[in-house]
Amino acid sequence: MSENQVDVVVIGGGGAGLAAAVSAAEQGASVLLFEAERELGGSTQLSAGMLTAAGTSVQAGLGVEDSAEKFFQHYQDLNQWLLKPGLVRAFCEHAGPSVEWLLGLGVEIPAKVSHDAHTPGLTRAGVEDVWRGHVPKDQGYGLVQVLDRARRRLGAEAVLNTRVERLLVDGGRVAGVVADGIDVRAGAVVVTTGGFARDPALRARYYPDAEAAGEDLFVVAAPGSRGDHFGFGEQVGASIAGEGWGLLLPTAYFQRLHHWQSGFPPPSRVLVNAHGRRFMDEDASYAVSSGIISAQDGPVWTVFDERARAGLPPGYAHWDAAHVLAEAEAGRTLRADTVEELAGKMGVPAAALRATVDRWNTQLPAGGEDPEFLRHRTLAAKGVTGPPEPIGQPPFHAARTLPAELVCTHAGLEINAGAAVLDERGNPVPGLFAAGEAGAGVLGPRYVGGGNAVANAITMGRIAGRAAAENASGT
Ligand SMILES: Cc1cc2nc3c(=O)[nH]c(=O)nc-3n(C[C@H](O)[C@H](O)[C@H](O)COP(=O)(O)OP(=O)(O)OC[C@H]3O[C@@H](n4cnc5c(N)ncnc54)[C@H](O)[C@@H]3O)c2cc1C
Repeated sequence: MSENQVDVVVIGGGGAGLAAAVSAAEQGASVLLFEAERELGGSTQLSAGMLTAAGTSVQAGLGVEDSAEKFFQHYQDLNQWLLKPGLVRAFCEHAGPSVEWLLGLGVEIPAKVSHDAHTPGLTRAGVEDVWRGHVPKDQGYGLVQVLDRARRRLGAEAVLNTRVERLLVDGGRVAGVVADGIDVRAGAVVVTTGGFARDPALRARYYPDAEAAGEDLFVVAAPGSRGDHFGFGEQVGASIAGEGWGLLLPTAYFQRLHHWQSGFPPPSRVLVNAHGRRFMDEDASYAVSSGIISAQDGPVWTVFDERARAGLPPGYAHWDAAHVLAEAEAGRTLRADTVEELAGKMGVPAAALRATVDRWNTQLPAGGEDPEFLRHRTLAAKGVTGPPEPIGQPPFHAARTLPAELVCTHAGLEINAGAAVLDERGNPVPGLFAAGEAGAGVLGPRYVGGGNAVANAITMGRIAGRAAAENASGT
């Protein structure tokens, strides 16, 4: 083997790249991983690290009966069968074993009920009937640390601060990469460069819904999410899948950070549409919430009263009592002494908004039940005890709310069940694999609850690393 020759080159050191590097090294391959930024981790490191998976020892420890088959059915149904069943089936089958693999490497996910994405254990990920959200200790950071320790133990080398420029291609076969102007030859290459959330032109082309949020759009994905995978794909005529899909979370117009820093809207609130009516469970999972909001035929508002504003807990940047007060004083958050006056400012029918607030006050706050939207069930799954306060203390507030927080993107290089990149005829490109946000086909039009993207990164990254090692050794 010449000086600049390895079995497997991995491009990008987030969750998918680290999983690929570790699994390739486990097969005995020599591995070189390039990371464009000064540290490993990408969006994976910023995430809660929650993973969806079925049939795991964590579920079994809680007496939860589940299977890859049930996961597959739910996944496909939620995505209206727009995804290729063979690929999704492989993902659902390997997600559980990938969680076991992580546990074996040292990730801690206790068999305990968790009511949120931050407390280690098993939680409700989305709208599944069986809980599948596996929350690791120390979140995405913990996941990256454990994978990186495994990488070092197995001797897979990582080069930081080095953005791979292009692929080396010999007669149709991918034969390495160019980084820092140097050719590095490899038996196989795995593209795990993450998404393209940080690139406005790629967003406009592959995820126009994000641009529709206009000035309210803000991106929380890691700085390295520049969409470099499209350039690599273009070199070899790769097919692109997942166009038009990604994850935008609902936020108030004044949020600019992920909710851990921005804070959370007050429990005592209703979401209303242009008709002055409630239209959803305000605490619905983002597996469905952004879609429901986008389906309304006009602006959507979060409506709350003065008690709710004043009761916002301190320590957050945006959903904070003083910040909301400043927004109201600047006239950006609407404020009025009566519900009817607020309706006038919002441009919604006053009688409808009055009826909405009155009805709401007799439902969940008074009787503990939300018969129309079943919000009490969601709150119970989140471990909330006791109903929210009624909405009644003036002044009343309305903050425009829309899907505008861009978390991840789903368009990338089309892969098959073995994480091989496909060309436009549907044939594997020799020597090229992809996973995570860069490798498309698993993440669909509907985000299947918190944990969908990290599970995709780890599971398909692990498959890609193993397949690349086999490909490089010619087995
Ligand atoms: C704040 C936040 C919270 C989230 N919470 C969750 C959650 O709890 N559960 C969940 O499922 N999903 C969550 N997500 C989404 C999820 O984290 C990502 O979709 C997933 O981790 C992506 O993994 P990846 O390996 O594909 O990309 P990344 O982890 O982003 O890694 C890609 C890496 O490639 C590097 N790179 C890019 N181009 C090059 C190049 N040319 N050369 C070398 N390196 C390059 C980047 O710098 C980056 O480090 C969250 C995302 C964010 C931002």
